[in-house]
Amino acid sequence: MSGFNQIPGIYHRPLGEMLVTTVCDGYMAYDTFDIFRDPDHAKLRHFLEAETRVAPPVVSINTFLVRYGSRNVLIDCGSGDIMGPTCGRVPGLLDQMGIAPEAITDVALTHIHPDHSNGLTDPVTGAKLFPNATVHVHQAEIAHWFDDGEKAKATERQKRVYFDAGRTQITPYLKDAANLFDRECEILPGITALPSPGHTPGHTCYVLRSGVEVMIVWGDTVHVPEVQLGDPGVGMIFDTDTPRAAESRRRILQKCVDEDLLVGGMHIHFPGFARIRKGYKGAFRFVQEQWFHADNHGHRPDAWQPPGKTS
Ligand SMILES: [Zn+2]
Repeated sequence: MSGFNQIPGIYHRPLGEMLVTTVCDGYMAYDTFDIFRDPDHAKLRHFLEAETRVAPPVVSINTFLVRYGSRNVLIDCGSGDIMGPTCGRVPGLLDQMGIAPEAITDVALTHIHPDHSNGLTDPVTGAKLFPNATVHVHQAEIAHWFDDGEKAKATERQKRVYFDAGRTQITPYLKDAANLFDRECEILPGITALPSPGHTPGHTCYVLRSGVEVMIVWGDTVHVPEVQLGDPGVGMIFDTDTPRAAESRRRILQKCVDEDLLVGGMHIHFPGFARIRKGYKGAFRFVQEQWFHADNHGHRPDAWQPPGKTS
């Protein structure tokens, strides 16, 4: 047995009248614990190995396509060409699903970081990759990533992949195809933006409601569930403000417990759906949702008919 290709990173999960599809952009494999802002590497290793995970971690990059009515909403849009050969798969997977870039009506960004927003624009030509989409993003993201004073404080790499690339990606949409919000608000019917600042200044979760079902797409609230649910205080070097990110993480995790929310996460292991339960002494537990077989409720996909039924 030589090489193989994994099955396509596409997974459907109905949510009331919505169809939520995880589209996996790829993954990052880290060779260091220095991605965490925590010097206690023995603790980090313990959390991962106790859950039989790879240590240092391998992290999935997911986007979520939400289809309902006449809308095709992408929550984050993949990394384009900036994250190397293990990433950048969203355009190919959308194509495989028969969804043209022109059919995407909205892109809701959890924040402007290359693994989430670098699929918006062709960096060479400056052309929109989703020509008919409105981009929804927190106003504080624009303020921060366009701030030359903030940029001057950044490392050379951060200047290039966060500030420069971020500006290149969002600029074509800002003129006439952007919805900038600055507080909790409904951005589209059934989709509410819930700011959760810290990881970045305008980091935002999106709450989806349809029928009796509620789901939160929590962006980068958690990068490595085994570690950050075990100790929600552990930050990442990618955080703009680590203490504030931890505060938002605790608040969102508690909300997920209190409201029994279905969670979709950009960095939860594919296919990226889970619920959160209370753990021991301030910890939380991560319960991956079981695979959704397409006939679980007998009405998805739409053309599905019970075996033997002829009409
Ligand atoms: Zn991320």
